[in-house]
Amino acid sequence: MIDTHCHLDFQAFEQDRAAVLERCKLNGVTQIVVPAVSAATFKQTIKVYQQYSELELALGLHPIFINEHQPQDLNELDELISQHKPIAVGEIGLDFFQADLTGDELKEKQTVFFTKQLIIAKQHKLPLIIHNRKAHDQCIDLLQQVGSHGGIIHAFNGSIQQAHKYLELGFVLGFGGMLTFDRSSKLRDLAKHIPLESIVLETDAPDMTVAQHKGERNSPEYLPFIQQALAEIKQLDPDAIARVTSENAKRVLGI
Ligand SMILES: [Zn+2]
Repeated sequence: MIDTHCHLDFQAFEQDRAAVLERCKLNGVTQIVVPAVSAATFKQTIKVYQQYSELELALGLHPIFINEHQPQDLNELDELISQHKPIAVGEIGLDFFQADLTGDELKEKQTVFFTKQLIIAKQHKLPLIIHNRKAHDQCIDLLQQVGSHGGIIHAFNGSIQQAHKYLELGFVLGFGGMLTFDRSSKLRDLAKHIPLESIVLETDAPDMTVAQHKGERNSPEYLPFIQQALAEIKQLDPDAIARVTSENAKRVLGI
């Protein structure tokens, strides 16, 4: 299986990264996409990616860190993409949820950085890994205006109508640990109605852990809990979930 979204480069894994990857292997998680989040950590992300053959690299400037991003970071991103050939541009997007990010000026800055990264991705013919909260309509508009090579809408949390617009634009939707919680009824219902061919699995570790490890650090080795939850929701064989979601990830990310 492929964990299509995991921040294995983060400090939270500094002590036991190799052990985590060993346990991933035992659990059938054989490929992990590691998206970068800011220029300050590009070097760390690339270093970790180069250390382990099961990792795939994505490079981008995350909207949560919008206060940190500088115009020259976009040039650095462009150069690093040419140099390291990541499989996608990400994690990029719009986050209009966090109170400290919702000032008009910061929304505007997020929109500018997102748009410029869409253009960079298009120039390099790369798919996208998109983070979005409370701004799906704005995101869909920009994707339609700028164009894209598709990709993944990470931790999708919008409406079924928005989901279908993303699918029409060549995206698949990432589902993670939230699916394992009974209280996530809206999300589980959404996963039920989205065709399996448009779904990929992700942990977003070290954040957003699964119900079985509530309160602990999340880890890519827990991907089978998400696979199991989706199998129950869709009343399908877990092996089919693993096979089809992996094929989907390979198709959209070109791996
Ligand atoms: Zn992330």
